[in-house]
Amino acid sequence: MLLYVHVPFCRGRCAYCAFASQEYIQEPAGVYLQLVQQELQVRSRQVQNTRISSIYIGGGTPTVLPQKSLARIVEAVYKHFDPLPGCEFTLEANPENIQGDIDLKVLASMGINRISLGIQSLDDQLLKVLERGHDTRQALKAMRMIREAGFARMSLDLIWGIPGQTLKGWLSELAQAVQAGPDHLSCYGLGLEPGTRLTARVKTKETALPGERTQARMYMHGAEYLESCGYLQYEISNFAVMGFGCKHNMGYWAGEPFLGVGPSAVSSHQGVRWRNPSALRDYQVLGQADFRETESENLSHAQQLNELVLLSLRTSRGLNLNDYKKLSGVSFSRKYADIIQVLHRNNLIRMAHGYLRLTRNGMLVSNSILEKFME
Ligand code: SF4
Repeated sequence: MLLYVHVPFCRGRCAYCAFASQEYIQEPAGVYLQLVQQELQVRSRQVQNTRISSIYIGGGTPTVLPQKSLARIVEAVYKHFDPLPGCEFTLEANPENIQGDIDLKVLASMGINRISLGIQSLDDQLLKVLERGHDTRQALKAMRMIREAGFARMSLDLIWGIPGQTLKGWLSELAQAVQAGPDHLSCYGLGLEPGTRLTARVKTKETALPGERTQARMYMHGAEYLESCGYLQYEISNFAVMGFGCKHNMGYWAGEPFLGVGPSAVSSHQGVRWRNPSALRDYQVLGQADFRETESENLSHAQQLNELVLLSLRTSRGLNLNDYKKLSGVSFSRKYADIIQVLHRNNLIRMAHGYLRLTRNGMLVSNSILEKFME
């Protein structure tokens, strides 16, 4: 089972962000800390002490918490859960927190063995557009410090399609990132989420995203460049040196059970899905009832099929057609023969060795392809 702990605090809100997080303030963070430890205990009983193959502390910005608070979360994880040998333990971190607030060697000594660093861009102008809390110098320094602290695994998050970004600039950012020697990169296209400051600015034409053609070239050329540097694209937005894929995300895509702890976290165990409330005060109410009153649902057959298709087609391995037949009782290629033919003709999908997968062109327009295969 995969274990995720959500930390719902950040130093402020970045211009493009619609994630479940709020500004870090000591008092609510203290309340959260108590609750998350309580939830870890309750949920470990609920899943009958199932052993853990991956632990992921994400957010928000986990490293906005004081180090001793992070240590208490890690201690509670170990107290209530039993990690399997080789368990990957990832912590999401932001560059501005690596400069002294956090002692990386102490994090490593707590068993954290992978850092996922949210650098997002290596261009100060673009970082300003995104309203991030760090600059390029801090990002480069944080990457060096992570390596010097002995973390074998370091992943970098980057964004393409930022207002003002050019194809040349994006490729040069990637080149700088690669120079830092990460073993994993996640490259996301900037999305305009409802209600964010960036979305408002684009709507009023104060700023604009790069054109669609430029964005498509950023995705395609970026992926080609990373592969030429030895990073295999193993999912729509993820690239890794062979053997360094993120075990946690690969577990999700493979349909492993997962337990999410903290506000807004989602869990899936024995066919039952539940989600914690996002607002800290609602999470607190749930905690007062000892986390017994979480709303849950049994996944319907159609939902299970949709998930299998949706998750596996995100990966470069693709959908195992046998798995689909086992679950649905029908052949995927027969059921969707017409759609498959059109997509294949347009070089958007490939079928080989019992798998159907999206080509890189297909990955670029994955949302519109995937919706054609939904029940
Ligand atoms: S640090 Fe991440 S989660 Fe926090 S506001 Fe910025 S984008 Fe959102």
